Amino acid sequence: MHSTNPKILVLDDDQFILSYIRAILKSYDDASFHARATDALDAIDSGADAPDIVILDLNMPEMDGIQLVSALQDRNFQGSVILISGVDQRLLETSTAIVARHDIRVLGWLSKPVVAEKLLQLVSAWKPEDGSSTRPTRTQFSSGELSIAMRDGELLNAYQPKVDMLTGSVTGFEALVRWNHADKGIVGPDQFIPAAEESGLISGLTDLVLENALRDLNRWTAWGWNHSVAVNLSMLNLADPKLPDKVSRVAARYGIKPSRITLEVTESAIVDETCVAIDSLTRLRLKGFHVSIDDFGTGYSSMEKVRDIAFDQLKIDRGFVTSASDDSTKASIFTASLDLSRYLGMNTVAEGIETERDWSYVRDSGCQTGQGYYISKPLFAGDVPDWIGMWGRDGGAARAG
Ligand code: C2E
Ligand code: CA
Ligand code: CA
Repeated sequence: MHSTNPKILVLDDDQFILSYIRAILKSYDDASFHARATDALDAIDSGADAPDIVILDLNMPEMDGIQLVSALQDRNFQGSVILISGVDQRLLETSTAIVARHDIRVLGWLSKPVVAEKLLQLVSAWKPEDGSSTRPTRTQFSSGELSIAMRDGELLNAYQPKVDMLTGSVTGFEALVRWNHADKGIVGPDQFIPAAEESGLISGLTDLVLENALRDLNRWTAWGWNHSVAVNLSMLNLADPKLPDKVSRVAARYGIKPSRITLEVTESAIVDETCVAIDSLTRLRLKGFHVSIDDFGTGYSSMEKVRDIAFDQLKIDRGFVTSASDDSTKASIFTASLDLSRYLGMNTVAEGIETERDWSYVRDSGCQTGQGYYISKPLFAGDVPDWIGMWGRDGGAARAG
């Protein structure tokens, strides 16, 4: 249980800063201080008492702050983070946005030199979780449970429309997997994709999502629709040299042209890419499929990498789209990503269009394609026809105007 004071862990490779923060936090008796990321993670893994607040230097030699935050998320870290850095304020703000995208609460950030009063203020802003938090809780599902759910058809695709920002017409759908869980209701992919990846079920899961997506697209095609569909790939799928042939076979079986199918791969997945992954992506392109770099802006890929991997679509991460018109840092990243994508002759999709302001901002930027709650939340297949009808009647045209 929490005492009134949060349990704090401080990580900074600079011993001087560590002692300085130790002095500021002297009233927090059980705070721990680490100069190495691995030691901090070991302390967290020892599991005795998970920290409520991790105070973290963004620039460290062996593991930077954002990698450490990913490591915290892998550990199902439920606490909050305070970021410290000597870098300029803009980079610090961007990093804060990226950390928040990892579903980790950010209490705030401090630039060096650290001001004692500000640090204490941030620490005192911490409150124990009161249960009303809307942050997704990460239930751990066993691979056994997931495998039975897959067998019993409990995994369903939701479809989120993508629209042409100029005309407002619907160009396609992204398939987003859901688990219709007997006790828990609809469970989102963030809660079981990691388990699927760890247990080797991800290959079967991707097959299933692809199969369902193409079956639905095949039915919609029979109604005269010519939309495209996008399916998300895990990095592990790309390690399978049989993937391109597998995708081709399913497409052929449903009579769907490869040009109507996009495979989305997150930017972080290609950062530590292997030759097999590059081969798979290139072969998919050669077969006529589209290949999209997802969550662009959150990884570290270089321009060369984006160019060399033959991606033909770039999806700007929603962290740089939602509210970009009110935030100059987001707007600069948005614009830089759009410019890069154009320069490389790629199609650009802005995800996370949540409001009319976001919509206008993206449309005025000249970005071709948009996706987000303002257009539509992901829909189950049965709800797609009504939505299409509604959008055709009053949604699209009005918004595009
Ligand atoms: P993603 O590929 O970036 O998908 C977009 C996510 O953003 C979806 O969450 C979608 O519901 C959500 N979203 C869409 N519009 C908005 C918006 O306007 N605002 C906000 N805040 N969010 C929006 P979802 O469905 O929970 O999926 C989360 C992630 O799980 C996906 O991110 C994707 O990386 C992964 N995923 C989903 N389906 C699959 C799958 O079949 N296979 C694999 N490997 N990963 C999948
Ligand atoms: Ca995606
Ligand atoms: Ca995305």
